[in-house]
Amino acid sequence: MSTINRWVGPQTGRRMQSAVAVKTAVQTQHSAKVGNEANAAHFLESLTVGTQWSHPGDAQFDFRSDVVTRPTLPMLQAIVQTTLQDDVYREDQTTSSFEQRMADLTGHEAGAFVLSGTMANILALRTHLTQPPHAVLCDARSHVVHWEAGGMASICGAMVQRVKPSNREFLTLEDVQKHAVLSDDVHLCPTTVVSLENTISGLVHPLPELSRISEWACERGLKVHIDGARLWEAVATGKGSLKGFAACCDSLSLDFSKGLGAPMGAMVLGSAEFIARAKRIRKSMGGGMRQAGVLSAAANAAVDETFGPGFWGRNAGGKLREAHSMARKVADMWVKRGGRLIRRTETNIVWIDLKGSGISKVDFNEIGEKYGIKLDGKRLVLHYQISKEALLRLTFVFDEVALMRDGLL
Ligand SMILES: *Cc1c(COP(=O)(O)O)cnc(C)c1O
Repeated sequence: MSTINRWVGPQTGRRMQSAVAVKTAVQTQHSAKVGNEANAAHFLESLTVGTQWSHPGDAQFDFRSDVVTRPTLPMLQAIVQTTLQDDVYREDQTTSSFEQRMADLTGHEAGAFVLSGTMANILALRTHLTQPPHAVLCDARSHVVHWEAGGMASICGAMVQRVKPSNREFLTLEDVQKHAVLSDDVHLCPTTVVSLENTISGLVHPLPELSRISEWACERGLKVHIDGARLWEAVATGKGSLKGFAACCDSLSLDFSKGLGAPMGAMVLGSAEFIARAKRIRKSMGGGMRQAGVLSAAANAAVDETFGPGFWGRNAGGKLREAHSMARKVADMWVKRGGRLIRRTETNIVWIDLKGSGISKVDFNEIGEKYGIKLDGKRLVLHYQISKEALLRLTFVFDEVALMRDGLL
């Protein structure tokens, strides 16, 4: 039976399957003793028949975001095999060693595992921002500004200094210099942190420019935070390693639940002193987690499975690169039909000019629905679980848009 058939198969046989699974479990415990890993994997597979674990499901037709990626069997296997100690007591080996692994990969001293990318950013900024009045300078399009429910204001008490990149792609040192407030003038709110996002709108913030900003900020006592929710994608382009990008900041946040596909989880990286303070603030936000291994094990497995080992995520990093080449294909498909792109396509995000094609977001999404794919207007996000069938359906959507634009439909 194919994986797909098993996945959508009737649920009626489930009880019987469970009985088989329990029997297999007993056998597996025995096999595990003699070190039979393959049997353990087989056991999990038998347990997950008729569940959502064994197949990407709806995610393969979903272009709205890479957060839709569905956790996989290797992640479930990691969850099953995790340690179950208390992480607030700092006794959970799985969580501690994952934090240390990420610290080593990024060249920072320590890490704090948290529930979401938003929590990672707000926690990092809150840890930097100790005494108002203070301001965070960032790209006007930043996630921290638009998509974090105003946490920078409500939790950090920070003023935001939004800067539009003059090259329309990423902030340069000159942009930062022009807008940072360093003066002693009591009227002004001093810039305390420069917060940069990488990738930003799907584009890599180039390493040389990050280095310039970082050096300049450091000389003036400003902290640099990098929102690296999609830093994995930047690394997958080959334009810098995890360690290379991470060397340009005092704190870094990484997200495991976007293109990497973990069920949830993110991390803040920084100096040992910074992370010790962040962990106290994390506790005050209700983010101290007890048997955290259940989450951190899956996130750790997601790094292995989707990014791959090492600073460059070699080997398995191919899954991210696969999504990038799908993105290039989608961009080509759109342009070939006479469409215009709003931005370059460098990683897994394609920006199409819907307005220029005379079609509204609502209509575009509706056409998608008609063909059984989920769209969210002008931003198309690719991820490794997008199927060939979904790409084919997207061509039908693009065809229809082109016909409407040309008055043929
Ligand atoms: C997704 C994302 C985050 C965090 O989002 P969560 O949904 O809270 O995990 C932060 N920054 C950027 C740039 C993102 O794309």
